[in-house]
Amino acid sequence: MKHPLTDSRWNAILTNDRTKDGTFYYGVTTTKIFCQPSCHSKAPKKTNVVIFKTPDEALEANFRPCKRCQPTGQKLTNELWVEQIKQYLTNNFQQHLTLDTIASDCHGSVSNLQRTFKRITQQSPTKYLAMIRLKHSQELLNTTDYSIKTIAIRCGFSSDTYFNTCFKKQFHQTPIAYRSLTK
Ligand SMILES: [Zn+2]
Repeated sequence: MKHPLTDSRWNAILTNDRTKDGTFYYGVTTTKIFCQPSCHSKAPKKTNVVIFKTPDEALEANFRPCKRCQPTGQKLTNELWVEQIKQYLTNNFQQHLTLDTIASDCHGSVSNLQRTFKRITQQSPTKYLAMIRLKHSQELLNTTDYSIKTIAIRCGFSSDTYFNTCFKKQFHQTPIAYRSLTK
């Protein structure tokens, strides 16, 4: 079910053209969120855009409705939004992510994101992201011979020193010690 991203559709997305609402919806493959043309979320990369004719089509393709423009006509609950954010973090933990990036990609403000995420999951989004990264690093330590530096980068840590610090803080041993115990 492929609909072309025509110039006129692309233009409607860039100019948040309200008159095109209802004629199509667009999803962004990196975030798996879909919007109405008029949505004021930041402009996506053109190559990441997919077009849907109806909200159902987008939902069937496993895209989730944007919190800001509510393309299904229903308000997105905070619980669903947090699910969306978790999914986003799971899909993108290897990237360098700041709270600004996360909030902007998940279509909310930083303060609202932090508050809502914490209230529903009892932990901060940063902590949640760190746990995804650390769990993935354990998997790589167990199953590969990658250097600590490579693992740090592949798990989205800014440096191997920082990776070491986080790992030690969470598991009370260094990544090297962990690897030697489990291999
Ligand atoms: Zn939107």
